[in-house]
Amino acid sequence: MKIAVLPGDGIGSEIVAQAAKVLEALRREGLKIEMEYAHIGGVGYDVAGDPFPAATEKLALASDAVLLGAVGGYQYDTLPRPMRPEQGLLRIRQGLGLFANLRPALVYPELVNASSLKPELVSGLDIMILRELTGDIYFGQPRGMRQLPNGERQGFDTMHYSESEIRRVAHVGFKIAMKRNKILCSVDKANVLDTSMFWREIVTDVAKEYPQVELSHMYVDNAAMQLVRAPKQFDVILTGNIFGDILSDEASMLTGSIGMLPSASLDANNKGLYEPCHGSAPDIAGKNIANPLATILSVAMMMRYTFAQEDIAQRIETAVRKTLQQGVRTADIAEAGMQKIGTAAMGDAVVAAL
Ligand code: NAD
Repeated sequence: MKIAVLPGDGIGSEIVAQAAKVLEALRREGLKIEMEYAHIGGVGYDVAGDPFPAATEKLALASDAVLLGAVGGYQYDTLPRPMRPEQGLLRIRQGLGLFANLRPALVYPELVNASSLKPELVSGLDIMILRELTGDIYFGQPRGMRQLPNGERQGFDTMHYSESEIRRVAHVGFKIAMKRNKILCSVDKANVLDTSMFWREIVTDVAKEYPQVELSHMYVDNAAMQLVRAPKQFDVILTGNIFGDILSDEASMLTGSIGMLPSASLDANNKGLYEPCHGSAPDIAGKNIANPLATILSVAMMMRYTFAQEDIAQRIETAVRKTLQQGVRTADIAEAGMQKIGTAAMGDAVVAAL
């Protein structure tokens, strides 16, 4: 198991260090795990003048899986766009062909009160959001800023999806639904956008190959509303890049904290990049208070999807559950009166439970 470890910026190094403890514990048991570190994001720019340095690209291409912390920081906000930390993320996703982004939103019984919704709405919640990751308006050309004939300046982007891009991610969505409750909701904006009308047509066509899966379509504005009204109606949500970006952040709050949500981004051969859904949290970086569980749960997803080690994936998830059952909490998920522990202590607690 050759793993490229890219801590990145902000809390990245703190949370990745906890996930590395879990990998090291598994290595001590005899799993053949190799970890090699490299820079990405702002730190890549600082060290090599590029948010996705050539050495990092080489390592990522040569590895079976990538474990990433997060990128971004206020000090980089004024850099020209190609040098910004987020470009490192977009380039690694594109460079590795990671078109399928899986984000589970799962409510642990122990954290049901940490959700911003009433317990009865989220208790038992288990949704998988599948976001297309390498197309859509985030990558569409042309884009930029231009001057209109009347002299006014205008910013513009281009939204498009090709048939093959929609088909391949739709297949991933139906396959995931087949392993779950066989309910798939495709989210689009087909009442307004031509790209979405086409998306809906292709998803409907792919559905013919999965007759056991119940397919529905929903407009993204309604989906945003339904996610906070009755989230348990969903099993798998399949959607494009920009809608998935927003909906998966919304879904994260159903679970109590964005610090609990892992993600996997896969290519056609299950090579994957695993990272927490949250960003680099510069407001709490270096304070040893960030929640490392999303990053640790990302390692569980890595074991499941890239290395096909379902038993190890479940052991890591169970270790996280046990830790929560013991009342161990970082600040973001602690209820009033509970003892809060730091990032490193949370990592140690999970390793002990493992
Ligand atoms: P963010 O996710 O970094 O933080 C949002 C809020 O959640 C903050 O209050 C933060 O303290 C809190 N938070 C995030 N992760 C946490 C954790 N593990 N434990 C406890 N609390 C946590 O989003 P933002 O503030 O909008 O962005 C900060 C920077 O991160 C920006 O530069 C942004 O571009 C970048 N970003 C990176 C990624 C990524 O690397 N995948 C994703 C989103 C944002």
